[in-house]
Formats: sequence, structure tokens, C-alpha cells
Amino acid sequence: MKFFISIRMLIFAFKNFEITMETTLNEAKKQYASDMHTCEHILNQTMVRMFDCGRSVNAHIERKKSKCDYLLNEVPTEAQISVIISRVNEVIDSNLPVFEVLMSREEAAKIADLSKLPAEATDTLRVIRVGEYDACACIGQHVDSTSELGRFEIISHDFENGRWRVRFRLV
Ligand SMILES: [Zn+2]
Repeated sequence: MKFFISIRMLIFAFKNFEITMETTLNEAKKQYASDMHTCEHILNQTMVRMFDCGRSVNAHIERKKSKCDYLLNEVPTEAQISVIISRVNEVIDSNLPVFEVLMSREEAAKIADLSKLPAEATDTLRVIRVGEYDACACIGQHVDSTSELGRFEIISHDFENGRWRVRFRLV
């Protein structure tokens, strides 16, 4: 009898765990802003091309507004910020397909910056392409086409000790 109860309790505990996990995953999916995250890819590539800097060193992506930090030698001028906004929107307006390509680490290194890849990453990498514009090893969720993104706007930005923080949204 004792054994029977403990098995039942175990099954109950497991089912409960499963339900909790499922809820957590679903909630994470709901809150995950794949449009904002895809926009982050585009913004990163735009920054790399314009300032020859790395991709963002720190990012906080949320549905309503997001922020990314870049290491720059000096604060971007208002004219440069206007160019960032128009370039990101040009890419969005090009209706580029966003898709994954599985490739070896060696192949991926030819088209993407793998410097931030965690040491435990597998030898086969999932590289996310935004058309021909960007390639980045990433395990996140993305939209299928840049046409799903709204218009990119910079809300505010500040510069401190070589770190440029930009807050943006899609409207
Ligand atoms: Zn991604």
C-alpha cells in the first residue's frame, strides 16, 4: 500500500512538474518578442557596418521596447543616428526572408562572428540569416520575414565610458 501511494505521488509530482514546465514554456513563448529580437539582428549588423564595432555587448529585448549596448570610441552624431534608423528601416522594407541554416562551425566562421559563441556550443551551428544582410549564430526565435516587423524607432540613447546604449521600439 505504501509503495502504491508513493508511486501515485510520484506520478502526480511528475505530472505537476510537466504542467508547470509547459506553462513556463508557453508563457516564455508569449512574452518572447521574436519581432524585436529579429530587429536586434538587423540593428547589430547595421552598427557593425557603420562603426566597425562588434555586435551589441548587452541586450535587453522586450515586446514594447528594447535596448542594446555597443562599444564605440565616441558618441554617434545625430546625423549618424538618422542613418542608423533609415538603414534599419530600409532592411525591414526590403521584405527579406529570415531563415535558419545549419552549418559546421568552420563554415559559420566564414560568414558570422563567432567570438561570443559559448564554449559548450555544438559543432553544428544554427545560423540565422536575414536575407544577405546578416548572418548570426543564434538559438532564439525569429519572424519569417522582415515584412512582419513594424517601423524601427529610436526612443533614446546615451553614451558613457565608451558604451552607447540605444533604446528602440517597433511601431
Ligand atoms: Zn536571434
